[in-house]
Amino acid sequence: KYYVDNLSQNIKRGLYYKLKQGIWPTKAPPGYINNPKTREIDIDSEKSKIIKKAFQLLVDENYSFLHITKFLHKFGIQGYTGKPIKIEQLKSVILTNPFYIGTMKYGGEIVAGKHKTFISKDLFQKAQEVVKRIERPRYEGHHFTFSGLARCGECKAAITAETHTKYYKGTDRKVKYIYYRCTKKLVPCTQKYIEEQELESQLRKEVLNLSLPEKWRSDWLTWLERDRKEEETRSEENIKRLELEAKSLEEKQNKLLDTYLNGIVDEEIYKSKRLEISEQKQTLINKILMIKEKGSSWLEPFENFMLSAFQARVIASSKNNLQDLVNLARSAGSNFNLTNRQIFFTPNLGWDTVFLFARRLRSTSPSALHSYAVLGTGFEPM
Ligand SMILES: [Zn+2]
Repeated sequence: KYYVDNLSQNIKRGLYYKLKQGIWPTKAPPGYINNPKTREIDIDSEKSKIIKKAFQLLVDENYSFLHITKFLHKFGIQGYTGKPIKIEQLKSVILTNPFYIGTMKYGGEIVAGKHKTFISKDLFQKAQEVVKRIERPRYEGHHFTFSGLARCGECKAAITAETHTKYYKGTDRKVKYIYYRCTKKLVPCTQKYIEEQELESQLRKEVLNLSLPEKWRSDWLTWLERDRKEEETRSEENIKRLELEAKSLEEKQNKLLDTYLNGIVDEEIYKSKRLEISEQKQTLINKILMIKEKGSSWLEPFENFMLSAFQARVIASSKNNLQDLVNLARSAGSNFNLTNRQIFFTPNLGWDTVFLFARRLRSTSPSALHSYAVLGTGFEPM
């Protein structure tokens, strides 16, 4: 026991010694590698690009934690334990980890690290704001599911929620009602409140209108799978070609080294040539990364849209989950407004197709809608 205590004390001392030197004392965070020679932390030239991209996807592309986690899995990014990063680790291990801007937090201590960084402070700061924004709904507005969904259709002011408790004398019970009403903070406005249950049933009806018939599901999934396979073969071929090119550059580099070693070219020429080749190689590697990442990415929004459109029916009819209903409504529409106790909105891209054609085409061939949705509304590969 004594020995073990001593050992762990010594290990701790060692770790803190390193930390005081500005060196991360344990396994490097994703995007970095432990350099076994210098025992310091180096940037992993490939993985760092993926980590940086993850930050950008969050800040610029509005990716959800789930999508970022999937993106990281695709490129084999691992957490400290060597396993794929879980969605609940994403925030602490990557998105809010100050290590990426040069600060080390370890065992309650905060120390400036001497490792190089590849995430700008600006990007990191923006990411912190997005993370906060994503998390806020969990703590706020819990009781008022429809808060923030719509504006007043008459005066464009925000809609606010409030509760009223009614007491029924006859049955001696209290019932809590939730109302939504215009804040009337901009200009005088004549709009009246709407009760939550009424709003809910209207929204369920609208969402039901946005659903695709269940009998189409298997056809659509087949088409999607076919499109995906085609896309994959295409990008695999491209990647193979680029990898061959990268390999031939490597051979070139080897030959160049031979000529230098044999005294055929002098050092200066060797160095500049070598730089040139390695820059070309880096360009190829970047291209490969980009194809791996973007390859069939245009299919993803389409797939998400499609699965949601099939799910819409279930969500519209399920009695319990208001939050799912609101989430689906938010992804399917925008410009929600309340006018004369009625909710209105504009269907988003893709959904507008379903909205306009689904009911009309329900009796006819589903392929008509498929080709319209794929070719007509901006789901083409970009
Ligand atoms: Zn109003």
